[in-house]
Amino acid sequence: MATTEDRIDELVPRDALKTLSPGRDKRTTFGIGLIKGLAVTLRHMLKPAITIQYPDEIDELPARSRGVIALKEENCTVCMLCARECPDWCIYIEGHKEARESVAGKRAKKFNVLDRFAIDYALCMYCGICVEVCPYDALFWGQEDNYSEHDVLQLTHEKETLNQWMYNVPPPVELELGAMGPEVKPLPAAAPAAEAAPAPAKEGA
Ligand code: SF4
Ligand code: SF4
Repeated sequence: MATTEDRIDELVPRDALKTLSPGRDKRTTFGIGLIKGLAVTLRHMLKPAITIQYPDEIDELPARSRGVIALKEENCTVCMLCARECPDWCIYIEGHKEARESVAGKRAKKFNVLDRFAIDYALCMYCGICVEVCPYDALFWGQEDNYSEHDVLQLTHEKETLNQWMYNVPPPVELELGAMGPEVKPLPAAAPAAEAAPAPAKEGA
C-alpha cells in the first residue's frame, strides 16, 4: 500500500527539489509538518472545549487567586508601611491625627485617622508585597475580577471601593498536615483573692 511519503514522491520528485535547492530536502519537511499540524488540529477539534465565553459565562476562581486588594478600613493605622514598600508606588494614603480621651481625667491620646487610601490598578503589578507587609491585617486578596474601566484614569480605586471588596475575601486556608500553628501561651494563673480584713469591732460591744 502506498504511504503518504510515496504519494508526495509521486507528486514532487525528490531529484527535482534537489535541483532547485541543492543540499536540502525541503519537500519532505514541509509535507510531514503540514500533516502533523493537521493531525494536532483534528485531535483538538474532537476534544471538549476548555475555554469559556467570558463574560457570558463566569468561571469560579481558584481559592488563592489574586483578584484585587481589599482594605479592611477599621484595621488600618495609617502606618504607611504598604505605601513605602510598594515597588510601583501606586498606593496613595492620606490621614490626620486626632486626640481622643481614653480614660476620664487622663491626658488625651493621639490617633491616626485614615482620610484616603487608594490603589492605582493601572500601575499595580499584583506582587502582593503590600498584603504581606501590613502589620495590622488591613489588606487582603479579594476575588473580584470584574473592575475594568473605559478610561485608564478611572483605574485608581478609593477606599470605599476597596472596602466593598472585603465581601469577596476567602477565609484563610487551613494549615497543611503536620504544620504548626502560632504558639498560644497559657494565661498566667489568677492571683489568690486577698483575705477579707476583719470588720472593726464596735465601740461598747
Ligand atoms: S500588589 Fe504590589 S504593586 Fe500592587 S499595590 Fe500591592 S505592593 Fe503595590
Ligand atoms: S500597612 Fe496596613 S495598617 Fe499600614 S497603612 Fe498600609 S494598610 Fe494601613
